[in-house]
Amino acid sequence: MCGIIGLVGRRGYHINQLLYDGLTVLQHRGQDAAGMMTENKGRYHLRKSNGLVKDVFYKRHMQNLLGSVGIGHVRYPTAGSSSAAEAQPFYVNYPFGISLAHNGNLTNAEEIKELLTGEYRRHVNTNSDSELLLNLLAMELHSRTHNLTIDGEFHVDVKTIFSSVAALHKQISGGYACVSLISRYGILAFRDPNGIRPLIFGSREVDGEKEWVVASESVAIHALGFEVERDVEPGEAIFLSSNGQIYTQQCAEETHHSPCIFEHVYFSRPDSIIDGISVYQARLNQGQRLAERILEQFPDHDIDAVIPVPDSGRYAALQMAGTLGVEYREGFVKNRYIGRTFIMPGQAMRKKSVRRKLNAIPHEFKGKNVLLVDDSIVRGTTSAQIVEMAREVGANKVYFASAAPPVRFPNVYGIDMPAVTEFIANDKTVDEIGEEIGADKLFYQTLEDLIEVTSINGDQSWDASCFNGEYVTGNVSQEYLDALEAARNDSAKTVNVLSDEIIGLHNDE
Ligand code: AMP
Repeated sequence: MCGIIGLVGRRGYHINQLLYDGLTVLQHRGQDAAGMMTENKGRYHLRKSNGLVKDVFYKRHMQNLLGSVGIGHVRYPTAGSSSAAEAQPFYVNYPFGISLAHNGNLTNAEEIKELLTGEYRRHVNTNSDSELLLNLLAMELHSRTHNLTIDGEFHVDVKTIFSSVAALHKQISGGYACVSLISRYGILAFRDPNGIRPLIFGSREVDGEKEWVVASESVAIHALGFEVERDVEPGEAIFLSSNGQIYTQQCAEETHHSPCIFEHVYFSRPDSIIDGISVYQARLNQGQRLAERILEQFPDHDIDAVIPVPDSGRYAALQMAGTLGVEYREGFVKNRYIGRTFIMPGQAMRKKSVRRKLNAIPHEFKGKNVLLVDDSIVRGTTSAQIVEMAREVGANKVYFASAAPPVRFPNVYGIDMPAVTEFIANDKTVDEIGEEIGADKLFYQTLEDLIEVTSINGDQSWDASCFNGEYVTGNVSQEYLDALEAARNDSAKTVNVLSDEIIGLHNDE
């Protein structure tokens, strides 16, 4: 998963600090690499590398990133490689000079790669879909503008840009939200026809001049002191010109709004609002419904306290405690200076890092029947470790609840998930999973309930593929899934992470 941002500031104002601040607010969407591209007086300035935003951009880089327009990216690899060479934005110098950053995953990347390298004779240097998207966009813009005469000034109609996006939508498939900086013109942003990945824009006025921001999540817009205008519609493109104008157009022939429900389970920040739905409220609702179901199954429950798995289990847990009529207690302390455990190479290392990340407060467990709550269970490593920790510090009974249903299918639209064989729910019943994580009882949200309580604005369709295996783009073949499985298994990741460490050494110099 990744986070993207694009900014158009007032003339003469350098937006580098705003981009930096925006990326730090989007850091939860990717901690693997970060990058920024700005444009000043016709010159591009780029800095990208592996690492957190604070470790990628030093003062000397920031001083270089001049200009009143720019785009930024934080990266979390969705399959296999996390090499520094795949940090975004990517850049091509023709036509105009275009750079692009994206969040999501193309499901026909191989086909696009063949088209680009074969018919269009373009060189593709990485495994990143962003490079494909960028080159395809460049081809489409080129084919519509190569007859234009350039007489000192560039002249390209915004309609030409939008028709290039329309052509792009016809050729690519998957979940994607993109920001692209087109030299001298401005920033183009677009979202896939199903609106799987989020994209939202906002503005503010300073000294009578309009400034624009487009980002993965509303929280970035608010944090920068802008007002949200609205979400980019599925299939829509917006163009923010360097001189502060906005143009919008629906560029897809058919759209079907089916955003990714996992954004509301785990991925997005709770203070974001996506397509009009508060992530925080969705998570409270998920907790409420799950607690109601527990009460139905277990009316005389003996739970003494509800304890969240920090941080993402907190919101559901808070509401569950109220609904169950028991105390909400904090029983685990998280070491905030340790990264996520999810992409650690190999199971042994991953296990160790859960222990390093979380520590139990014995007083909250001793002699109590506790209900531990997490937003989801993927591999089950976290939950098994946590149950064990609760027992070690004296818990009597340990129940476990997941605010999301069992994760059983791969995500192909940009969320990092392990190989299917590594999912704890693979080929297991709920009781078997409960047994494996060592819980006295395990409660899962049903998919019907998750969908109902997350659809706060009324009935709507969702991409819930990691729970039901139904892919809204409809063209995900078994062959594709097999290739993804091979790229995502632990042995593939170990090799990549080791080579990244070597690349990282050179890159950070
Ligand atoms: P596990 O079951 O040990 O694989 O990890 C589950 C935990 O990882 C839950 O606490 C989730 O908050 C978190 N999680 C779920 N999906 C992802 C993801 N795609 N990337 C990183 N962490 C995730």
